Amino acid sequence: MLACLKTGIGKTEMKDIPIPEPGPGQMVVKMSMSTICGSDMHFLDEMPNEVLAPIFPGVVLDQGMLQGHEAVGTVHAVGSAVTNFQTGDRVMSACITSCGKCNECMYGNYGVCTGDGPYGRPLFGCQGEYYLVPNAEISAVKVPEEVSDEEAILASDILSTGLGAVERGEAGYGDAVAIFAQGPVGLCATLGARIRGCGLVIAVDTIPERLEIAKKFGANVVINPNDEDPVMKIMGLTNGNGVDVAIEAVGTQPTFQGATQVVRRGGTVSSVGIYNTTPMLQMPTLIPSFTHRRIVTTICPSGRERMRRMLDMIRYGSLGLDRLFTHRMSLSECSKAYDLFRSKEDGVLKIAITP
Ligand SMILES: [Zn+2]
Ligand SMILES: [Zn+2]
Repeated sequence: MLACLKTGIGKTEMKDIPIPEPGPGQMVVKMSMSTICGSDMHFLDEMPNEVLAPIFPGVVLDQGMLQGHEAVGTVHAVGSAVTNFQTGDRVMSACITSCGKCNECMYGNYGVCTGDGPYGRPLFGCQGEYYLVPNAEISAVKVPEEVSDEEAILASDILSTGLGAVERGEAGYGDAVAIFAQGPVGLCATLGARIRGCGLVIAVDTIPERLEIAKKFGANVVINPNDEDPVMKIMGLTNGNGVDVAIEAVGTQPTFQGATQVVRRGGTVSSVGIYNTTPMLQMPTLIPSFTHRRIVTTICPSGRERMRRMLDMIRYGSLGLDRLFTHRMSLSECSKAYDLFRSKEDGVLKIAITP
């Protein structure tokens, strides 16, 4: 089968590799649509294969490292002990798979499962004609007919993560919310704030196309830091008090700092970005910045039941998520897709990749 493999830092190549075989509890899915995510860029551009190989066993092959953790497809083969799926079922899996047995899973925190090690077990290989889903019974779900491939893929990570930031921040009816960064996850947080009944929703990003979509997803005010200072503007919009919840959705020090500066006393900073190149975050610890605020973090909430709920939201809720897909390419063009995604040019958000 054809698969996109990482052959060096920042470098991908299409290679012919064997179709994976499902072990106990696993299944192999024939990909019908895949896409690239910001987390793929961290793996690709920042982390050598030699570092990743021991952390995620089986993911770095002789030819390179399997790429991609967001996909939808049909079941090709199931391993022993998988009873709830059959060949031909249309399925998607949470981007982080869960063992269902570890301490974290017992608490229902499937996204921080440690059953396969301290780093969890993201899906890998979704940018290939076939991909392996570990812990399939706990992590995957059938996709209802009414839900498109594009929507199902978004449910597997982006939607669940963006909404997770809103939920963990406990943003609700009438709350003022500011979302720093409007990539796919930030846009889903904006959408989540709106559908959870928040009041003033403020979206911050430097890319005008993204701010336009933010308005469609329910942002009342959009701020481009290239034009105006977001902290001053947000404090002005909230009578100098700050917002109830500020969400950080890209994973940088300046956006995190911005989020901590615009939260009212007693409010919440909800951090959901991946800080791969920022191993240590700084924040002011003196009153009133630190002790009078709450800080929460989120990684993609996962697990089969969460995925079912995400799909039902889409199925019955007319969320208009399709507008996040800005480009279409074939699997053979994966390297080109990575270049486009990295450039953030041409209004790119999500790229639908089909075999
Ligand atoms: Zn992702
Ligand atoms: Zn677990």
